Amino acid sequence: MTRVYNFSAGPAVLPEPVLERARAEMLDWNGTGMSVMEMSHRGKAFVSIAAQAEQDLRDLLKVPDNYKVLFLQGGASGQFAAVPMNLLRGKKQVDYVNTGSWSKKAISEAKKYADVNVVATSEADNFTHIPAFDSWQCNGEAAYLHYTPNETIGGVEFHWVPETGDVPLVADMSSNILSRPIDVSRYGVIYAGAQKNIGPAGLTLVIVRDDLIGNPMPGLPSILDYKIQADADSMSNTPPTYGWYLAGLVFQWLKELGGLEAMEQINRRKAEKLYTAIDNSAFYHNPVEVSARSLMNVPFTLADAELDGLFLKEAEQAGLTTLKGHRSVGGMRASIYNAMPEAGVDALVEFMVDFEQRKA
Ligand code: PMP
Repeated sequence: MTRVYNFSAGPAVLPEPVLERARAEMLDWNGTGMSVMEMSHRGKAFVSIAAQAEQDLRDLLKVPDNYKVLFLQGGASGQFAAVPMNLLRGKKQVDYVNTGSWSKKAISEAKKYADVNVVATSEADNFTHIPAFDSWQCNGEAAYLHYTPNETIGGVEFHWVPETGDVPLVADMSSNILSRPIDVSRYGVIYAGAQKNIGPAGLTLVIVRDDLIGNPMPGLPSILDYKIQADADSMSNTPPTYGWYLAGLVFQWLKELGGLEAMEQINRRKAEKLYTAIDNSAFYHNPVEVSARSLMNVPFTLADAELDGLFLKEAEQAGLTTLKGHRSVGGMRASIYNAMPEAGVDALVEFMVDFEQRKA
């Protein structure tokens, strides 16, 4: 068996010990004689798996008691609609920050339900910086302010939290949740598709403050209704049971590693190695303003785009896969989520230095 270093933006690499454990438990989970996939979601075994996963997540993120944690389906894109439909609460106006492709998708979905005020945008410079907070045109009457703490495509990450006063802050943390400690109490809603730092695709995590739920827009489908799902322990219909179980294994892996403080140290080290390699070279280039660079997604271009194909081919031969950048940015993108081992980043840097020496 050969495992590669997989730099995919998502679905992405999972921790090897998690995959090993899932394999060991595949045919017979804990003496039940069946796999987790085959269990009733209402049976004792799965209910215990689900509760343990929620508790471990609460421990990792120090989620306060007045927040619900929901394990849903529909992806982060489902939440682009669920957020306005749950949080408008009779209001019409909402604030959005536009820092990249995912912000734009969230904005266009919200426009179906609300009057969207884009408080700040970095589109004019192709999303390579984060607009300074004092330039944001916030609306004190907005039902909430939505932003994308990590733009997966542009590789742009907030290293600070917007201060929105009484206006609930909503964050699409799909690509940086669990990468470091956060103060959940600063947020009204945090949501994330699972397929980067949580587990396999098909599971969507929502963390929502109690007082924001229970006043949905008329016509909100029940499966997207935070109150209905919270009251049903995320089981108003059949939840994505296997994804929930695997997420639980990922949470246990993080705890064993020393929690999010320890994870942050590793992530900082990995990102620093890669950015240093890029910055020390005249051949590789990352366009993002240094203060807004992502620790999770690192886009970079080669001095000669004609060499892109060869770079990807040779990288593949060296066991470094899925490095092709998004077409809107071009070049390469290395996603270095929690589960990417530091040795993977070392191998990538070594390959980049060698490639430059031979081709530049
Ligand atoms: N938001 C961000 C920041 C993302 O990276 C992605 C997926 N790449 C999405 C939203 C969409 O997620 P999903 O495919 O789960 O709907």
